[in-house]
Amino acid sequence: MVTAAPGEERSSALALVNTRRLGTGGEVDDLADPHAAAQWLQLPATALGADALSRVTDLRAAVRELLAALAEDRSPAAAAVETVNAAARSDAAAPQLTWPGGPRREWHSTSPGSVEEALAALARDAIDVVAGDLGPLVRPCEAHGCVRFFFREHARRRWCSTTCGDRVRAARHQRLVVEQRESPQRGA
Ligand SMILES: [Zn+2]
Repeated sequence: MVTAAPGEERSSALALVNTRRLGTGGEVDDLADPHAAAQWLQLPATALGADALSRVTDLRAAVRELLAALAEDRSPAAAAVETVNAAARSDAAAPQLTWPGGPRREWHSTSPGSVEEALAALARDAIDVVAGDLGPLVRPCEAHGCVRFFFREHARRRWCSTTCGDRVRAARHQRLVVEQRESPQRGA
């Protein structure tokens, strides 16, 4: 069971980027094949072909570039911005009126249940994050080998999970033990 990084519950785009992560045996990709990706996107298993899968993973790479650019205080590659914008346009949403309990406006997809709807929702969330209040909170996990991002809602947080924090502490301890073993005996 993988613990979600802080912020994934608020942003599907952040969760998308973090589908590439460090497992016990190296990097894991939760979107490795169309079946796994359909499951992650909560679409029917048959909804995603190889072509659609590459659109999803291209979007993931583009959103990762935007988050990295924010965290590094630089401009992102122009192609990443265009990929996200194109995905956001891939499904039209229309305002729809619902009335039980009073009038409410909701935005509904014009192609519900499609890959386009899923891509557009992820891309719109990415735009909201990057251009909104959450943007300044985007941080990469500082643990060695970890590729996840998170929202730093507590000033001292440096890792995406307690697992990463424990790993860093264990590595630091190990380094200390080795240094002490290798340093010459005092007073010898
Ligand atoms: Zn981490």
